[in-house]
Amino acid sequence: MTDVCRWDVPGRVNLIGEHLDYNGGPVLPLAIDRSVTVKARARDDGAVNVWSDLAGASKVSFAVTVQPGDVDGWASYVAGTIWALLDRGHAVPGADLVLESRLPSGAGLSSSAATTCGVASAIGDLFDLGLDRTEVALVAQHAEAGFVGAPVGLMDQLAVLHGTEAHGVLIDTAVTPHTTTSVELGWEADGLVLAVIATGAHHALADGEYAARREECERAAAELGLEWLAQAGLDATVMLADETLKARTRHVLTETARVRGALTAVNRRAWPQLGTILTASHASLRDDFEVSCPELDVAVEAALEAGALGARMTGGGFGGSAIALVAPEKVQALREKVEARYALHQWTRPEVFVVHAADGAHRAGPDGARLDA
Ligand code: ADP
Ligand code: MG
Repeated sequence: MTDVCRWDVPGRVNLIGEHLDYNGGPVLPLAIDRSVTVKARARDDGAVNVWSDLAGASKVSFAVTVQPGDVDGWASYVAGTIWALLDRGHAVPGADLVLESRLPSGAGLSSSAATTCGVASAIGDLFDLGLDRTEVALVAQHAEAGFVGAPVGLMDQLAVLHGTEAHGVLIDTAVTPHTTTSVELGWEADGLVLAVIATGAHHALADGEYAARREECERAAAELGLEWLAQAGLDATVMLADETLKARTRHVLTETARVRGALTAVNRRAWPQLGTILTASHASLRDDFEVSCPELDVAVEAALEAGALGARMTGGGFGGSAIALVAPEKVQALREKVEARYALHQWTRPEVFVVHAADGAHRAGPDGARLDA
């Protein structure tokens, strides 16, 4: 038991393996060097108070017995985490929580997983709940699915919990609990960086379309007699009659193959091949899975024209961010090209920044220095 603690939890980008985490496929995200900080103080009166530096957020208070529907808006992810902890049998006496972020919220970089994993880790620490990273991930997923109402997989939580500097997190979502393997990402040693293009777009249909994709994938797997759609063979697209299910299945099985190809490319430091695979992933998400949007397509096109080796949307789609593998000296040209293209369309100016693979959730001292977990 400790009176106060601080946890720093990064966001993530998904390098490759999109919409596979609920299809039993492999995914390869990385934790990034932008994080959410949760400072927590123990209370024993059943109350939770939350402060955040999010624009427009003022203090929110609720009881530890909070139920879905009681809290909405920005604090729902925090309230949802408290609810999920109790719902999974953990006792929470109360807490004051202060959230500070260097991770844009709603940009597809998983500030939600950083927030929920940060709150769960900090509360676990305050009250010696003995939560391991698997349990923190499950609590965080339960918060988003059961309280906020977003039926997410486990990729984001595992990425922000298990990431390490200069490494990606290969997650096998076909097994329960999912296994994670650290994969060294050597492109920086070879003079390349990963740039994020935060489009600033988020289309309202994202949630509904996400649920629809999950349902379509389940239906396709059932028709094929498979537990997971990612197990589908090349004959699957011939066996399915429905054109939409065929296209969704084609994405899932080609994306699964692309993750394997990307791993080979990473291991061999074959960066042009990795780039080609990233760009092919984008085309598949755009044409077969139909989860891209004009802002993401234009970002990818402009990045490629600016000399990126490859680029793709990352995350669920319908807005959020794209990533590009590019030489650092080309990042400014990429930024200018994307900005010019967006100006032409009269879209809000996108944000372009370089990210590095960073350590996952960790305890920190008051000055932010890392403490051993
Ligand atoms: P993303 O995960 O792509 O950033 P989401 O819409 O899934 O976007 O999650 C954004 C939500 O996460 C915010 O609406 C808020 O509820 C929560 N959140 C993110 N950052 C903070 C923060 N600094 N303080 C409090 N809540 C935060
Ligand atoms: Mg999110």
